[in-house]
Amino acid sequence: MVKSVCTGCSLLCEDIDLTLKAGGVGEANNLCRKGFGHFSALFNERTIPRVDNQDASLDQAISEAAKILRNAKNPLLYGWSSSSQEAQKVGIDLARKLGAVIDDTTSFCQDVLMDLVLKGKVPTCTLDDVRNFADIMIFWGSDPTNSHPRHLSRFSYYPRGEKRQKGYEVERDSIAVDVRKSSTAKLCKYYFKVAPGDDADFINSVISVLDGKIPRVGDKKKMIELGTVLRKAEFGVIFPGLGLVSALQDQMSLLEALLAKLNSIKPYKVIPTAEHFNARGFNQLLMSETGFINRVSFKDGVSSNPDLGIVGASRSCDAALIIGSDPLSELPFGVARRLAKMPLIAIDPRRSLTTDASRVVIPSAMYGLESGGSAIRTDGVKVSFSSPYPAEKPNDEEILKRIMEAI
Ligand code: SF4
Repeated sequence: MVKSVCTGCSLLCEDIDLTLKAGGVGEANNLCRKGFGHFSALFNERTIPRVDNQDASLDQAISEAAKILRNAKNPLLYGWSSSSQEAQKVGIDLARKLGAVIDDTTSFCQDVLMDLVLKGKVPTCTLDDVRNFADIMIFWGSDPTNSHPRHLSRFSYYPRGEKRQKGYEVERDSIAVDVRKSSTAKLCKYYFKVAPGDDADFINSVISVLDGKIPRVGDKKKMIELGTVLRKAEFGVIFPGLGLVSALQDQMSLLEALLAKLNSIKPYKVIPTAEHFNARGFNQLLMSETGFINRVSFKDGVSSNPDLGIVGASRSCDAALIIGSDPLSELPFGVARRLAKMPLIAIDPRRSLTTDASRVVIPSAMYGLESGGSAIRTDGVKVSFSSPYPAEKPNDEEILKRIMEAI
């Protein structure tokens, strides 16, 4: 067996042992079902170099990609959450060279939360701190049992830690706040159901309870019980998910207010549950280079505004390089249709609707299995990985460098 880092989600599990067999993953230790599917898909859905729906050589595909980007008046470079830090750096340099718009998958997802965390507007900590010290976990609009299957077992609920030696039954409390009783909610000690979009009212009720007032919404008895549980925490952590972020959007200041109130009583932190393995890495890197986490244009200097996100950019851009992402499957139909009408370049190890609709397809090596690099875990910890099964295919960084040279 060889050691591997799983790039199936933003937990970047470093304790994977696996073997490969003809046509797939053979034996695997510690790889969850999602990680197994992530690596296995490589063997069923591998991309090959293509230009205009014809098989091509890698050189031809790279040369055609360079031509499309060179001729575009307003190119978009999109994706990035499934690329290494090293590739993201080259991607930002390429966007700068082209005067392009650059955006990542969080711009239709959790970027408002990531912005708060990266700018220090809400307190945060590492998942290792959670394992060692946390006694109250709040899964709010998130369902890590499905999205990050080893979240609860490696970090947030079940493991024993430095100060949490007695096990979750004795020393940890878990709370789920969600519109439905998700798989994670079913494992939690407390479940609070909120109607879709009512998270802001729920936050106001929690703040009222912590202020010693009667809450205006929710079951008053349960809300008062929640206040008591929150007050007795030694170290609490909120794991917001897309459910909470979508419900709040331009009211994220309410989350800040809740954290401020909680922290006036006991230490409470926030850790995002980013989806793709290096989503946080891109946001951090772009922020260090430009001051913005995404939706950046390098035309006439550096600027950022909401219209530079994938939705607006699908209207204003005239060509797109999509890397490690499948926006044609994942984004609303209108956005996907607009993207599909422009010349697309897809860099991806695996076939998808986006690669099938692209004028140029460039196959890449898969991170964690075929290519090394580094990435930032969802809690901000840097993880480096090697390539236990090196591929003959170039990785994202090498492909982007070659495109840049050709331009
Ligand atoms: S939890 Fe995420 S990183 Fe860990 S093995 Fe599963 S998919 Fe891979």
